[in-house]
Amino acid sequence: MKTAIKIIGIIIPILSCVFFLQCKNNTSSSDRDQKRNNNNIDNKESNIQHPPSNTGNDTITIIGVGDIMLGSLVPSKSYLPANNDCTPLLEPTTPILKNADITFGNFEGVFTDTKVGAKECNNPNTCFTFGMPSKYINCLVDAGFNVLSIANNHSGDFGEKGKENTVRVMKEAGMYFAGLESCPSTTAVKDGIKYGFCAFAPNRNTIQITDYDNAQKIVKELDADCDIVIVSFHGGAEGTGRQRITRNYEYFLGENRGNVYKFARKVIDAGADVVFGHGPHVTRAVDMYKNRFIIYSLGNFCTYSKINIRGVCGIAPIVKVFVDRNGKFLKAKIIPTYQVKHKPPRIDQEKKVIKKIQELTKQDIPEVELNINDDGLITRK
Ligand SMILES: [Zn+2]
Repeated sequence: MKTAIKIIGIIIPILSCVFFLQCKNNTSSSDRDQKRNNNNIDNKESNIQHPPSNTGNDTITIIGVGDIMLGSLVPSKSYLPANNDCTPLLEPTTPILKNADITFGNFEGVFTDTKVGAKECNNPNTCFTFGMPSKYINCLVDAGFNVLSIANNHSGDFGEKGKENTVRVMKEAGMYFAGLESCPSTTAVKDGIKYGFCAFAPNRNTIQITDYDNAQKIVKELDADCDIVIVSFHGGAEGTGRQRITRNYEYFLGENRGNVYKFARKVIDAGADVVFGHGPHVTRAVDMYKNRFIIYSLGNFCTYSKINIRGVCGIAPIVKVFVDRNGKFLKAKIIPTYQVKHKPPRIDQEKKVIKKIQELTKQDIPEVELNINDDGLITRK
């Protein structure tokens, strides 16, 4: 815990869950809206109502990874890592994860120390319950994570009690998080830059990916008060056959899992600067809209048990996005990783996920003005 406090000590210690009011837009945003709608991508500069922070850093680095599930005490403790110790799972990637201003991941589950409240599953082939011991937060903090999404299809796996405990554990560790109805967004200041973060999903008690008006309202409020706005979504259908961007609503297990292409554009229109998608358990294409970076799915980053990591489900990027102080895309780097059952994610010398993202982006977003080279460097054309 001491290490956790030390790392988080570099972030101004606002409580993790900051409700809208603290990122409230106190000024009219109509001018900004007008300019965004006119495709004037650089309107932020003239509309920032507070003095720009002065750190001397012109480039900000934001890392995103996909699903994180460090083992589950349901159905039994045999699904937890050896000796109930999550430390080894993030060790190989920690030097990379720590090397950014902000490091984001999707926390796919609940912090709980009891099985009480675990959801009932009728079909074990399609229904999974993910509960991690509360102490596992230390592994995430020690690995360099400072922002997590809790908007996903597993945040309700242990009912209200599970959500409450997850929120408590993250707050106590100084972790920033968002995505539940009780906590739609959060802000943090680091090195003089104010970051806003919000997270969306199609699931109950999360902020809805299909409610564009509400999503835009949340993002606009953050944008009015923050230098950089990061948006996370857990959306799109799941599995090996679902890597493509349909530009339509996607349905999975009877749920509308959102139109991720449209959602990303809606939030960028409202002021989002970086959009990190996840949820399909496979990687998807990258995109750039109004000079803002999008990845539609980051895949399975560190999923110890119960989640299929065969084939394309077992390769995933660490995406490091370089933006200017207004959130405008400068470049990005894909660091390729792979998973083997019950082992930590490791750097993939074969760079499989880079090839996959090159291929998917060419197929699905052929018009995007981005180059992705064989080493994973993403630059403008
Ligand atoms: Zn999920």
